[in-house]
Amino acid sequence: IFNFNPGPAVLPLPVLQEIQAELLNYKGSGMSIMEVSHRSKWFDDVLNDAVARTRRLLNLSDRFRVLFLQGGASMQFPMVAMNLALPGKPLDYVDTGTWSTKAIKEAQILGKDVRVVAGSKDREYTYIPETVPVNPDASYLHITSNNTIRGTQWKRFPETGGVPLVSDMSSDILSRVFDPEPFGLIYAGAQKNAGPAGVTLVILREDMLERVPADLPTMFRYTTYAEKNSLFNTPPCFAIYVVGLVLKWLEETVGGVAAMEDINRRKADLLYACIDETDFYRGTASPESRSAMNVTFRLPTPELEQKFIEEATRAGLGGLKGHRSVGGCRASIYNAMPLEGVEALVHFMKDFEKKNG
Ligand code: PLP
Repeated sequence: IFNFNPGPAVLPLPVLQEIQAELLNYKGSGMSIMEVSHRSKWFDDVLNDAVARTRRLLNLSDRFRVLFLQGGASMQFPMVAMNLALPGKPLDYVDTGTWSTKAIKEAQILGKDVRVVAGSKDREYTYIPETVPVNPDASYLHITSNNTIRGTQWKRFPETGGVPLVSDMSSDILSRVFDPEPFGLIYAGAQKNAGPAGVTLVILREDMLERVPADLPTMFRYTTYAEKNSLFNTPPCFAIYVVGLVLKWLEETVGGVAAMEDINRRKADLLYACIDETDFYRGTASPESRSAMNVTFRLPTPELEQKFIEEATRAGLGGLKGHRSVGGCRASIYNAMPLEGVEALVHFMKDFEKKNG
């Protein structure tokens, strides 16, 4: 089937096939990659290859470190605030929906001086704010680059006048080219564009390590992961291995992030064109803020939406139900979704409209 689910893992078919082929005997070890020691040369190569590929794919300069953590993107909400807050300098956040709101809440729980400097709550998070105030006194400015639930995405990142940008890129990392230099830290639960659930990618500019307070518990300090190449304790070996395979697929089969962006753009354009063609489907995000990863839309009635989702599932188009907090429909078209999947969906949508419109 074509999998339009927003997670927990959306993987390219060739990657799944490669995992299957070497599951029982990893590179002649006689063991599964799940069984080899995380201190072995086999795993060292897996880890270093994943780091090197991330650096090449995202065009990261030597100033950046690539780390693999556990706890999901949700664990990064407090970790960012714990590690990067500077004394007397507020933490600036832009609130563009559920995941931003959760990041804000975690910083508040820690008693930090949190400042919500912009947001889109006034119109049910259907857009990305055009301007964000530049506050030179901030420790950092946090944004969510793609809002998985509402289907909005930053097209241009805000100017910060040198204040480090921090971004939750869980649902659009590796989907498009961007300049990493203004970012102090980027984090992403791997489970949309980078691999399976269970590992979180953290990309950190080296000067951020100087901010890490010494009195944080060991596992909550970015320095712990940076000093030990993500091997302070047992890492999620299997998940990192799969991330490595996804990165290899992206680099060698797709041809890199720019090539991926081009395919993603074609997929999103095709789907939004279908939505805009008639009044039967209605996109929920403001056109200028539309996400190329999560396409959210409504049908004329909730009953028709239910029928649409059920019939689509029967036709091999899975996971089109919108997030339970907002309803409606959502097609998640991450990197692993081939153009043919979107073509099949558009074909189905036109047919469904003809029969029910
Ligand atoms: N941030 C974004 C943008 C997400 O889409 C999600 C999950 O869908 C999360 C954070 C939460 O990630 P995790 O489940 O890895 O904690």
